[in-house]
Amino acid sequence: MYCLNQKIRDLTPYDPIAGEYKVRLDANESFLQPPEDLIARWKDILEEIPFNRYPDPTAEEVCRAFGEYYNIPWENVAAGNGSDELITVLFTGFLEKGDTFATMETDFSMYAFNGFLQEARHVVIPKNPDYTMDIDRTIEICNKENVKLLIFSNPCNPSSVVQTREEMDRLIRGVNGLVVLDEAYMDFSNQSLLQDFENYDNLIILRTCSKAIGMASLRLGFAVARDELIRAVKAVKSPYNVNTLTQKMGAALLQRKEMCRNALAVILESAKELRQGLSALGEKYPNRFTLIPGETNFAALSMEDGKEAFAFLESQGIAVRYTSNLLRITCGTKDENTMLLEAFEKYLNQR
Ligand SMILES: *Cc1c(COP(=O)(O)O)cnc(C)c1O
Repeated sequence: MYCLNQKIRDLTPYDPIAGEYKVRLDANESFLQPPEDLIARWKDILEEIPFNRYPDPTAEEVCRAFGEYYNIPWENVAAGNGSDELITVLFTGFLEKGDTFATMETDFSMYAFNGFLQEARHVVIPKNPDYTMDIDRTIEICNKENVKLLIFSNPCNPSSVVQTREEMDRLIRGVNGLVVLDEAYMDFSNQSLLQDFENYDNLIILRTCSKAIGMASLRLGFAVARDELIRAVKAVKSPYNVNTLTQKMGAALLQRKEMCRNALAVILESAKELRQGLSALGEKYPNRFTLIPGETNFAALSMEDGKEAFAFLESQGIAVRYTSNLLRITCGTKDENTMLLEAFEKYLNQR
């Protein structure tokens, strides 16, 4: 009889919040739909695609569009089936048997998961009580433990905290191993190292179209690094990892810079409103929760009874996320934000 190995025996498939919710603020997606003219272009694309052919393995058109959008050379860009896939590619390629990788506590859970599948040794680096990174301590631990790959998100999911460009510079120069800087939320902040990637021979930056760009359904992410590193990423990834539809639709999207920037402004405004609403509730109900200062499309609350608040919101048809003792709330439309704030106040009131 075939027996699953011990490594995967107890794993369970990723279980996003399913079911009927009137408000979905759980996955940090964009609440905006693409405009008519983009949809029209996508319909044309559908008719132009040679469906019998494999996709372009270099994903040139969409990497060019990405490079132009962020003003970096497209040759230093690799595309992935979401940045999730690129995380897996980096773990499989840049770690050897017995190597050590490091993550920060608290951070995006997929990092540790990939390291686990890779059977790599895992070092967890603590953060400060206010969820900021202790840069000196991180450097010290990484080098002492011979960490080959350090991966973290900035701004951080789930805490929303952003570290400055200067801190990142010091960290990357300080550690001996590879630094994977996941900037999934950096469109919402202004501390990106994307323009400076050439300065580091041990840095790979990840970006995604799933959050600020609003295309979680397309599955499109990017890695950016210096020549030697990006060559290795391209060599390790599977050749046809990004399907032709996604490549073409993603290129058409990123070529509409103005549209993307306008959408970003709308999301930022919503995030600001959500934060203001939560912070007003924080004053009205003192000592019930702390709104962590951050720069993302979601708000992170540190809250003793966060789990109960999560369950209450769920009972009201509002999906948010409760993870690592944080209540994480994605910003939504004006109506969605209002419904969330009203339901949350109802919860604060009844306890
Ligand atoms: C959402 C998210 C991703 C995954 O993005 P995809 O491109 O959709 O795979 C990666 N990193 C962080 C920190 C995220 O929050």
